[in-house]
Amino acid sequence: MECIVLTQEEKNELVTHAIGQQPSESCAMLLGEKIDGAWNVKEIFLTENMDNSKTNFTISPEELLKGYQLAEKMHLELVGVFHSHPNSDAIPSSTDKKFMQNNPVPWIIFSGVNNDLKAYLLDSDLVEISIKID
Ligand SMILES: [Zn+2]
Repeated sequence: MECIVLTQEEKNELVTHAIGQQPSESCAMLLGEKIDGAWNVKEIFLTENMDNSKTNFTISPEELLKGYQLAEKMHLELVGVFHSHPNSDAIPSSTDKKFMQNNPVPWIIFSGVNNDLKAYLLDSDLVEISIKID
C-alpha cells in the first residue's frame, strides 16, 4: 500500500496556505524521498496559482523550475503535488486527472468546503492513498 507521509507542521502549512489563497485555488510542490511505498515529504515549496482561479491552477514554468532546482540542491525529488478546491470536495476534477497522468506522484487536495485533506495516485485507475502524519 502506498502512502504519503507529512509532519503535522507540513500539514498545517498546506492548510494555512490554502485558506490564505481563498477564494482562489492554491498549489504547492512537495519535495522528499520515496522509500518503498511511502512518499516522505521533507520540504514544501509553496507556489502561486498563476490562473487566480476558483476552479483551476497553474504553476508557472519559472516556479516549477525553481522547485526542481531546490529539490536537486537538497537531494530530494518531487513526491507530491498539492492544490486546493475552495468550493468543492477533495476529489480530482477531470482536468486534475489529465495532469495527474503527466505527474505520476501523489496528489493532495484540500477542500475549503469541509476541510478534508485527501491524497490520490493515478496509475491505470485513480486510487485514494492514506496520508500519514509523522
Ligand atoms: Zn483540482
